[in-house]
Amino acid sequence: MAAKTVLVLIDGVRYDALFKVNDWVGLPNMRGILNDGVLWRNVYTLEPFLTNHITQKILTGHQHYTQNYTIFQRLEYLGFRTASVGTNPWDGRGARFNFDNLYDKEHNYQSDDVRFDCACRILPKVDFVYLYTVETDEYAHVCRDAHRNIYSWESPYIWAIKRTDTRLGRLRGWLEKITRGHYNLICVADHGMTDNGRHSIGTWTMEAVTHVPVFACGVNFKRGAKVDARFYVTDLAHAIVNLYDARVPAHMFNSVLSRAAAMPAVRS
Ligand SMILES: [Zn+2]
Repeated sequence: MAAKTVLVLIDGVRYDALFKVNDWVGLPNMRGILNDGVLWRNVYTLEPFLTNHITQKILTGHQHYTQNYTIFQRLEYLGFRTASVGTNPWDGRGARFNFDNLYDKEHNYQSDDVRFDCACRILPKVDFVYLYTVETDEYAHVCRDAHRNIYSWESPYIWAIKRTDTRLGRLRGWLEKITRGHYNLICVADHGMTDNGRHSIGTWTMEAVTHVPVFACGVNFKRGAKVDARFYVTDLAHAIVNLYDARVPAHMFNSVLSRAAAMPAVRS
């Protein structure tokens, strides 16, 4: 049986935060995931660097996202149950449980605890959960508006990442408990951030905005693996569907899938 899988989109966390913020305040849970699993060191996002565009690209695996099926639609078609937590209704189309009411543009930054709780509650009922978290992006924009560097000592961006790390630890602990280790936890960012807390102004040459962290652990992944091949966020959807249906090509995960999970079966 395919493992319960959670995809967490952490809005606006740039790649080097995994190292810089860890050095400063510690990110034991994010580092734990990549130490126990896989770190992709060269994944890039695609223009325009706006969350609603990139979310769609991540969830469909296509540049032309409005014309293509979401992960939810593809997994539901295969007979699996899916949930979308905290993103807008259209992004979560096809999910059996679509908690779009948590997508609140006015109070977004206060709602990540609710989103994580919601994901934990629905997890026992489904095979795949997509969880959108936003606090990190919101606090980068607080830095932008206050003219602070996102990595300065008084930056709230750092502490938003730290809080997200703590929530990820709770989520992983819950996954361990309810699946007895038969799970996958995958994290990705939709875009990075300039030093000044912006991303919408980015171009494809701007490393801080285009280079995004992807890290994962779980029953389907090798332990302690690093991937240096270059991928794009649009590669992720197909790789995730492959965890449930081996007929789908999964270039992004190919070199790091554990042998035990090399032949996932489609539920009949
Ligand atoms: Zn933003």
